[in-house]
Amino acid sequence: MKSANSLMSGLGTTVFEVMSALAREHQSVNLGQGFPDDKGPQEVRAAAADYLMNGHNQYPPMMGIPELRQAVAEHAKRFQGLDIDWQSEVLVTSGATEALGDCLFGLIEPGDEVVLIEPLYDSYLPMVRRAGGIPKLVRLEPPTWSLPREELAAAFSDRTKLILFNTPMNPCSKVFDRDELDFIAGLCLKHDAYAVCDEVYEHIIFDDRRHVSIMTLPDMRARTVRIGSAGKGFSLTGWKVGYITAAAELMKTIAKTHQFMTFTTPPNLQWGAATGLRLADDYYSTLASDMQRKRDRLAIALAEIGFDVLPAHGTYFVTTDFRPLGFNGTDDDFCRHITVEAGVTAVPVSAFYDEPVRAPRHFARFCFCKHDATLDSAIERLGRHFRK
Ligand code: PMP
Ligand code: GLN
Repeated sequence: MKSANSLMSGLGTTVFEVMSALAREHQSVNLGQGFPDDKGPQEVRAAAADYLMNGHNQYPPMMGIPELRQAVAEHAKRFQGLDIDWQSEVLVTSGATEALGDCLFGLIEPGDEVVLIEPLYDSYLPMVRRAGGIPKLVRLEPPTWSLPREELAAAFSDRTKLILFNTPMNPCSKVFDRDELDFIAGLCLKHDAYAVCDEVYEHIIFDDRRHVSIMTLPDMRARTVRIGSAGKGFSLTGWKVGYITAAAELMKTIAKTHQFMTFTTPPNLQWGAATGLRLADDYYSTLASDMQRKRDRLAIALAEIGFDVLPAHGTYFVTTDFRPLGFNGTDDDFCRHITVEAGVTAVPVSAFYDEPVRAPRHFARFCFCKHDATLDSAIERLGRHFRK
């Protein structure tokens, strides 16, 4: 028989699935894959449940139900001061994952160059390559993960179609500051490139930082595509409801991709997400402050156990260097070792690089979006294991 697509068949299974399966097998405390213990806001779940029982459970409009598209536009005005036309500039997708696929397949022409920043979320590269894009990778270096401006500038050329980046950033928990965003915007303008910005953690941001969307920067409104997710905003990662905001001209093509990928997203979940996006400001500030408290609980304890804990300015994750514990293997070995021997699971950070063998091999990512009891149990297990 003929072989399947070689790029896709050559891929491994995503690290999140692999580590969660290993966690289940060993009944470990799973701080690998990023999903909250919390059930999510009651009113959001109630709205979805009520719609499921009493609403219209047939195909919703291809762009998404009007209530959710209006809520996305209102939310962009409230938090970013953006004026968005909900009818032509907002598209609802089945998760940020589909949103990324829609944008990449919709925008990239085979042979186009695409600038990406390592470490990167694991779905980016396979999709860019499958769309025919040529990745131009720029690497951030720990512990500051600051933007290497010269290298970034060198990665851009007139063949650059777009830059795809993520802020707040998974896995290294960096938040791009205004200066860095200005620099990226300058390159996009100079080379006539688009900015596709994955902003799924826009509300999970700490220590009085503020999320700035590159879409708000001068002259970037027309060339930015902004991606959000109800999974992160409302601690409902299984819902897979995402949203894209982009200028009408760009959106036309992105929507054509969506129409043949999923066409639409379950209407009750869209209704629930609309309820969530309209929650008062204090819901969002409490989400961030709760997460910050959890970050501190886990980060302080891991440092006491002996990890070198890197700063985390946003997202669900903290990156740790495990070398001070005296472990000499790779990050894959380490994450497997603590799952099996200590009963706690983390994710190897090299999985967020194009070539894991050329990536740093001494970082493990721990997820802190868990109940205090879950975090304490993980801390207790790791403490017992490494202190013996
Ligand atoms: N982008 C980033 C940076 C993520 O961490 C995730 C996953 N949680 C996604 C996109 C995918 O989001 P969704 O679950 O809405 O598809
Ligand atoms: N974004 C989540 C993480 O980084 C996982 C998403 C997934 O499992 N696909 O852990």
